[in-house]
Amino acid sequence: MQKPSSQSEFEIIRRYFSRSGLAFERNGVALGIGDDAALLDLPEGKSLAMSMDVLVSDVHFPASADPRLIAHRALAVNLSDLAAMGAEPLCFTLGLVLPSSDEAWLREFSEGFLPLAEQYNCPLIGGDISRGPLSISIQVQGLCDKSKAVLRSGASVGDKIYTSGTLGDGGIALLILDLGSHLGDTFKLNEAKPSAACQQFFEEAYYKPKPRVELGIAAGKLMTSCIDISDGLYGDLNHILNASGVAAQLNLAKLPFSASARSCVDDDNRIQAALYGGDDYELCFTVPADKCAELEQVAGQLDISVTCIGEIVAKSGMSNGISYIGDNALIEKVEPLSFQHFNSTAAD
Ligand code: ADP
Ligand code: MG
Repeated sequence: MQKPSSQSEFEIIRRYFSRSGLAFERNGVALGIGDDAALLDLPEGKSLAMSMDVLVSDVHFPASADPRLIAHRALAVNLSDLAAMGAEPLCFTLGLVLPSSDEAWLREFSEGFLPLAEQYNCPLIGGDISRGPLSISIQVQGLCDKSKAVLRSGASVGDKIYTSGTLGDGGIALLILDLGSHLGDTFKLNEAKPSAACQQFFEEAYYKPKPRVELGIAAGKLMTSCIDISDGLYGDLNHILNASGVAAQLNLAKLPFSASARSCVDDDNRIQAALYGGDDYELCFTVPADKCAELEQVAGQLDISVTCIGEIVAKSGMSNGISYIGDNALIEKVEPLSFQHFNSTAAD
């Protein structure tokens, strides 16, 4: 097995990971980097939530991207999975495959984790390094109250469907940043070149998605199901529907969009980006009708926008999955695309 030489491997770990400020102390982490394994002490009544994402260069991010942004995104998308379970971040581990040990790259890369690691009190507790084509595996660990995690399987008929934040920005960013949009040739911007402000907005949206950790923790008890939107609302909501054995009615007119998405992309394309684009990392969740007011109040206190976009309905005959209400002209354009996108698998 090829590895960087031991000297440089230990030096890399020491300089960029164990001594970089990322491996800070935290309650519950009894032993961090430095031994054969880290040790975690779980508080009574808590379950350990774990989630992992592998990001491969030039598949999930351009190898030439700013290493700070690569690190930020890698941790953000993992924290988003904890958010979707209603879990509180505890710590993370890092598996790093590197083509060479480029000092400047490593420094910036390790610094890129700091803002989110500190914000969510989520230190680095271990990992591994090997030589090969650049790829980054992060595993996050989190805590949730025993038997209180928010699963995909709890949605019931009559529950309202919500999303946090705005949708479609991740999908539009893939096109604007030329990262391989899978939305097809008809998916276009209004103008060939977006304004500098839009360019910057979508770059942030892609590399710095906001994991909705606070919302998952504070409002998880009001949710009957939850998922984070990594593949697009259509596919991810369908995961909830399949796990819960129900169907959904979505109101296309209610989908929330950013001002930048509204200015750069027309109506149909924006809806396509929301439904099939992915990379939004907002939470899609269901709430019983009598808990919606409380949910909206909790989200308001956190200053996180939430929008009711539809309702869970019974599965009936052939029409399972998602049906649409709202503007008929839009529905006629959007509905056939579901079939087109249903079997398309983005790299995830
Ligand atoms: P082992 O040979 O037992 O796997 P390593 O030499 O790979 O040990 O790692 C030594 C210590 O450094 C371990 O505690 C490990 O978790 C930590 N470590 C290795 N790589 C990383 C990394 N990329 N980030 C953080 N910690 C790391
Ligand atoms: Mg090792």
